Amino acid sequence: MPPSPSRRGLLLILSSPSGAGKSTLARRLMDWDPAIRFSVSATTRAPRPGEVEGREYYFKPRAEFEAMVAGGQMLEHAEVFGNLYGSPRAPVEAAMAEGRDTLFDIDWQGGQQIRNSALGRDVVSVFILPPSITELDRRLRARGQDSEEVIRGRMAKSQAEISHWAEYDYVLVNDDLEETFARLLKVLEAERMRRDRQPGLSDFVRGLNREFEAR
Ligand code: ADP
Ligand code: 5GP
Repeated sequence: MPPSPSRRGLLLILSSPSGAGKSTLARRLMDWDPAIRFSVSATTRAPRPGEVEGREYYFKPRAEFEAMVAGGQMLEHAEVFGNLYGSPRAPVEAAMAEGRDTLFDIDWQGGQQIRNSALGRDVVSVFILPPSITELDRRLRARGQDSEEVIRGRMAKSQAEISHWAEYDYVLVNDDLEETFARLLKVLEAERMRRDRQPGLSDFVRGLNREFEAR
């Protein structure tokens, strides 16, 4: 779908415990609509095999990351699993100016900060739950990207992340991937149709009224 200046962009925040499937869903969503901008976070963690600078993350030394925070360049930032993560502000503002949606794969702390920011009214937040903790553990291992120690650390944090589920607008249990993706699309399509996200509607209805009067 091309960017429409008659539509106000939204900020779609996906959060979940690590391994529940939010990156998979985010990738599917961007394949479905390439006009959606993914908010590429900055992080101090080391790249995983296959991760590309500027695609999954901007990988930064801690001092550089902290300088970005001090300079007001981050929309939000938080420490997760001992590393710093943050969402650069400029690309989000550019996407909003173009009437495009931005997709965030961030934790509950980032979700809270953006919801409480000046952009709060543009936020649509979705929490992804795993169907079970056994399946969450299986998915983290199936991804095959983390050491046993890292997997244990992520599982240990899962309960704390899940405890924030009720702060989100929508909650999806990611059992079958196709079904979850279909439900996520319904959320996005409905939110795009909200009256306050269609500033062009007043002009459109004025046009309808002119047509009435001309009859
Ligand atoms: P997250 O971004 O939440 O950490 P990922 O998207 O990386 O999670 O998913 C973790 C693993 O689980 C990946 O190997 C992914 O292919 C798999 N996965 C995601 N969703 C499902 C699903 N609904 N059913 C089975 N496997 C899934
Ligand atoms: P990972 O190291 O697996 O890529 O991400 C670990 C966690 O950090 C995930 O829950 C992810 O959503 C979160 N995260 C990634 N980028 C950001 C960010 O910019 N801000 C915040 N607050 N969390 C992030």
